[in-house]
Formats: sequence, C-alpha cells, structure tokens
Amino acid sequence: MSRSVLVTGGNRGIGLAVAQAFLAAGDRVAVTGRAAGGPEGALAVKCDVTDAAQVDTAFEEVEAANGPVEVLVSNAGIAEDSLLLRMAEDSFRRVLDTNLGGAFRVARRACPGMLRSRWGRLIFVSSVAGLSGTAGQANYAASKAGMVGLARSLAREFGSRNITSNVVAPGFVTTDMTAALPQRRRAEMVREVPLARAGRPEDVAGAVAWLASDSAAYVTGSVIPVDGGLGMGH
Ligand code: NDP
Repeated sequence: MSRSVLVTGGNRGIGLAVAQAFLAAGDRVAVTGRAAGGPEGALAVKCDVTDAAQVDTAFEEVEAANGPVEVLVSNAGIAEDSLLLRMAEDSFRRVLDTNLGGAFRVARRACPGMLRSRWGRLIFVSSVAGLSGTAGQANYAASKAGMVGLARSLAREFGSRNITSNVVAPGFVTTDMTAALPQRRRAEMVREVPLARAGRPEDVAGAVAWLASDSAAYVTGSVIPVDGGLGMGH
C-alpha cells in the first residue's frame, strides 16, 4: 500500500537514499531541504527546519499533494566540529536548533495527522556520536543524544495510537558531511569499524525502510545502530 512519506534533508546524502528506497517501494514521497532538489518522482519542497513557519508551510504543501504524512523521517542535520574550549555559543546553538530543534518541529507538525488516522511511523536519524560521544563534537553529540530522548518520549506518548517512534544511529557514512573531514581522520575512523569499510547511504536507508514496514509494527522506542559495528550495539 502506498504511503505518504516525508524525508527532511532528502535532497542528498542519507536522506536522498532513504527517499529513493521509499520511491522504489511505491510510496508517495516528499523531500525537504533548504536548497531545492530531490530524486526523480519525489515532491521537493524547500524548508529550513529551524523555522517553524517554514515547516508548517511545507507540511501544508505535502499534505495537499500526497495526503497527511504517515511516515516521517527526520534526517536533516549539520555538524560544526570543534573542541569544546574553542566552541562558540552560536555554533552550539545552531547545531542543537537544526538537529534536535528541527526533529522536534517536524514531529510536532506530523503527529496530529498520524493521531487522526491512528497510524504513523516516526523515524529519527541520530548518530553513533550521540551514544558514545566524540571528541570535537560536543554540540553534535548532544543534539543526537537529545533525539533519542525525544523519540522515546514520543514512543510513550503515542504508542496507544499505533504510532511508533524509533531512532537509527548511523556510524561513519560516505556523504558530503563526512567528505568535509580530513582524509587522515576518515581513514582513522574506518580503521575502527569492524566491518572494515565506511557505510553507504543505502545501508542506512535499509534500516529506515524496515522501521517503516509492517515487519516492524511491534518495534518502538528502539535505537538501531547502522555503523558496521563501530558502537557495538550502543
Ligand atoms: P549531508 O550533509 O549530506 O546532508 C544533510 C542534509 O540535511 C541535506 O539534505 C541538507 O539540505 C539538510 N539540512 C541541513 N540543515 C538543514 C536545515 N536547517 N533545514 C533543512 N534541511 C537541512 O549529511 P548526511 O546525509 O551525511 O546526514 C544526514 C543525517 O545523518 C544527518 O542528520 C547526520 O547528522 C546524520 N548522520 C550522518 C552520518 C555520516 O557519517 N554521514 C553519521 C551519523 C549520522 P540543505 O543543505 O539543502 O538544507
């Protein structure tokens, strides 16, 4: 059955692969980003997740085209790495407001429709960094840990209405975000991965698609690592 799916940050990287997986399954897919663009067959809507008014307008557009959002993938995110003593207040705030604040805003906007239809899937793209911490990523790791608390609270608030709320925690995945890291750092990270390779966006998309499927109907409040073993289940 075709579902109305919204993927934030679906114009590139992990979000793009997630959107493509839902399109391949025959779903009605919308993607958002600050920049336009998205995969062939998806509705692309510009939306900055730090702005509640833009989130509302984007949802209205998606609902008019595809119907109420039934599967929400909150994936939009940024990193601004630096060691704590050099981390500016603004940088901390920006990363929290995008990654955690954005997840809050889109979930809050999606839930009324899910409650009305007594069915919904909330899927949050966090990170292994949120579970194990990373030196130089205090802002990012804090935002990603916050998403776990957010998702688990929503799992409790909405579980009786058949809405599941889960987290996917990717490890090191080849995208624009990690391409920004120095080559030496990327090689170091891959050396720590038991599966001995970087993740592909499609690896993450597989877990997201499963969480949205009927096979995962009894899974909520979970954190699923997709990290090649980097976090060893944490
Ligand atoms: P990319 O940098 O490739 O993509 C980030 C996406 O988020 C883009 O689509 C971007 O679109 C969107 N985005 C960023 N800021 C905003 C905003 N304010 N409003 C709306 N959209 C925004 O990153 P990845 O694909 O690697 O990351 C996707 C998610 O996965 C992120 O949440 C990231 O933290 C997480 N992750 C990534 C890992 C990795 O190794 N790559 C590991 C663990 C987690 P635009 O620029 O057009 O706004």
